[in-house]
Amino acid sequence: MFIEFKVQNLKDFPKKLDTLLQKQTNQIKDIAQNATTYKESINKLDELNEELERFFTPLSHLNSVLNSKESQEAYEASIPLLSKFSSFIAQNKELYEKIKSIEAKNDLQKRVLELEVRDFMLSGAELNQENKKKLEDINLKLSELSNQFSQNLLNATNEYELIIENPKDVEGIPFSDLETAKIEEDGKTKWRFTLQMPSYIAYLTYGPNRELREALYKAYNTRAPQNQEVIDELLKLKMQKAKILGFKNYASYALQTRDANSEEEVIEFLEELVNASKAQAKKEVQELKEFAKKLDNIEDLAPFDVAYYSEKLKKEKFNFDETQTKPYFELNSTLEGMLNLISRLFNVEFKETNTPTWHESVKVYDILENGKIIARIYFDLEARESKRGGAWMHNWQSHFVDTNGKAQLASAFVVANFAPATKEQPSLLRHDDVVTLFHEMGHAIHHLFSKVPERSISGIEGVAWDVVEFPSQFLENFAYEEAILKEFAYHYQTKEAMPKELLKKIKDAKNFQAAIGMLRQLEFALFDFKLHQKLYQGQEVNSLINKIREQTAIIKPPSYVRFEHGFAHIFAGGYAAGYYSYKWAEVFSADALFECLDNSNFNLQRAKEYKENILEKGSTKEMSILYKEWLGKRPQTKSLIKLYGIENE
Ligand SMILES: [Zn+2]
Repeated sequence: MFIEFKVQNLKDFPKKLDTLLQKQTNQIKDIAQNATTYKESINKLDELNEELERFFTPLSHLNSVLNSKESQEAYEASIPLLSKFSSFIAQNKELYEKIKSIEAKNDLQKRVLELEVRDFMLSGAELNQENKKKLEDINLKLSELSNQFSQNLLNATNEYELIIENPKDVEGIPFSDLETAKIEEDGKTKWRFTLQMPSYIAYLTYGPNRELREALYKAYNTRAPQNQEVIDELLKLKMQKAKILGFKNYASYALQTRDANSEEEVIEFLEELVNASKAQAKKEVQELKEFAKKLDNIEDLAPFDVAYYSEKLKKEKFNFDETQTKPYFELNSTLEGMLNLISRLFNVEFKETNTPTWHESVKVYDILENGKIIARIYFDLEARESKRGGAWMHNWQSHFVDTNGKAQLASAFVVANFAPATKEQPSLLRHDDVVTLFHEMGHAIHHLFSKVPERSISGIEGVAWDVVEFPSQFLENFAYEEAILKEFAYHYQTKEAMPKELLKKIKDAKNFQAAIGMLRQLEFALFDFKLHQKLYQGQEVNSLINKIREQTAIIKPPSYVRFEHGFAHIFAGGYAAGYYSYKWAEVFSADALFECLDNSNFNLQRAKEYKENILEKGSTKEMSILYKEWLGKRPQTKSLIKLYGIENE
C-alpha cells in the first residue's frame, strides 16, 4: 500500500538508479515497438514513471531535508542520468508515433493521450530535422542567456555597498538588521548596506535618511545595464522558438499548457483587476502622502519613501506585531487545529501512524475516508541546519489504478522551517507561518484526495501552471478567518483564547494597502505578458513598461529606473508570459472561498462539492471547466477584490 521511507545506501544510489533507468529504457523501447493497446502503452509507462518516483523521491527529499555531503554526492551523480533519460523519452520518435496510434476507450484516456501528444509536439516532435536542430540550439542558447542574466544581476548586486558612519542615519532600524549591517573600520563602528534583498529592504523600510534611501533605491534600480542586451537576445529567441513551433508569438505558445485560453482573455482579466483597484489605490497613496507630510513635511512622496512611511503608518494603525500573536500559535495545536478543520470540511480522518521517517520530529498520518485508508502525509515542520530554507509540498506516491486493476494510494511530504522547540518553550509560529502551513496543506490535499485512475492526470500531476496555486491559496485564506483561528489559537501557557481584537487585527493588517500591492503585481503581469506578444527590442522594452505604468502607477518612478534589468522571474526564472498566473489562481481561490463561507460560517455542502469537483479530479479537465461544472460559472474577479477588502466604486 504505502512504501516505507528509506534510502539504504547513499553511496550505491546512483548505480542502482542507473540500473533502474537501463531497465526502463529497454522497457520503453519494447513499448514503442510492440504495444498495441492503451493498457500496454500508457498504463505501462505510468507504472514505470511511478516506479521511478518511488525510487528517486526519497533521495531528492532527503537531500533537501537532511542534507549531507553523501546526499549531495548521490544527488549530483543522479541528475545527469535522469536528464539523459528524460531526453531519451522526449526525443523518442518511435514512442511518439506509437502513442499517436493508440486508441482511447473513454474520456479520461482521451485526455491523457491529448496531453501526451501536446507535450511531444511542444518539444518539437513534429518538426523536420533542420528545425529540430534549430529548436535545440535555441533552447540551449536560452538557458545560457538566462544564466547570464542572473549572473549579471548577481555581480551588480554584489558590487555595490553603502557605508553609513553617522549613527543618526540608522536610528529606528531593528536591532537584528543593524547587527547584520555592523562593521568595524578604522576602529569605528559603521554600517554597511547592500543591494542584497534583506539589507536593501531593511534600509528602505526603516532607514531614516531620505537621501540615503534614494541612493540605495537608485543603485538598485539602475543595476546591471548590460542585461539590456541579454533581454533583447532572449526576446528574439523566444519569438523564434514560438514561430518554429507554429505560434504567432511566445505568449500564445506559453498558453498551450495553461488554463487561460487566449491572449485577449489574459489581458482583459488583468485590466479588469487594474480598473477595480485603481480608485482605492489612489486613496491609499493619498493617505500615505498626508501621513508623510504630517510626520516629516514631505511634499513630494517618492517611490523610495513608500516602504518607510507605510511601515510607520501601519504601526500607527494596527500597533501589533508577531510577538503578540506567537504565544497563541503553538506548532502542535496549530497543526491539530488545521487537521481538525480539514477533517470537518472534507469528511476525512487523520490517524497518526508509526512508520520509518528521516527524523524524529517528523509526524506521519494516514488519511481515512469512510473508515478506509486513502492516503498518507508526512509533516516535517521545524527548522534544522541540514534542511533547505522555505516551505514546500513534495508529492511522492500518486493515486492511480495499475495494470493489474489495483488502486495505488498517494503520499506526500509537507516541509517547513518553523522555529524549533527549545528546552524553555515549544515551537511558536508567526501568523505568516500559520498561513504557510495552510498553503502547503492545500497543495498536499490536492494531491492526496485524488480519485483519478490515470496517473498522469491524477492529483497535482498535469495541473496547469496558472491554476496549480488555486487549492493552496484557497486553504491559505482560511488562516485569516476568525471562525477558524479561534478554534485553535489558545495561549500555550495560560490556555486563554486569542482576544477578539487581535483576531480582527490579523485580518485587517493583511489588507493594509491592498490596492497598492495589487496594482504593483498587475504592472509586472501586464508588462510580462505584453512583452511576449510581439517583438520588443532596445528602448521599446522600457517604453512598454512606462506605457503600462500610465495605468498602474499612482506614484511615477524616476526616469532612471530600469526595473526590467532585474526582472529575474521572467528572464531567468521560467515565468515568461506567466507572471499573471499568481493572480489567475488567486481569483479561483477567492471565488471558491466565498462559495464555501457563508458569513464566516462554513457551508459544509459546498466544501464537500469542492472536494469532489476540484480536489478529487486532478487535471482530468481544464480547471476552468471543472470549476464551471461545479458552480456553473467562471470564477469572478470581483471575489478577489472583495477578499482584499478593496472598495470598488
Ligand atoms: Zn504554493
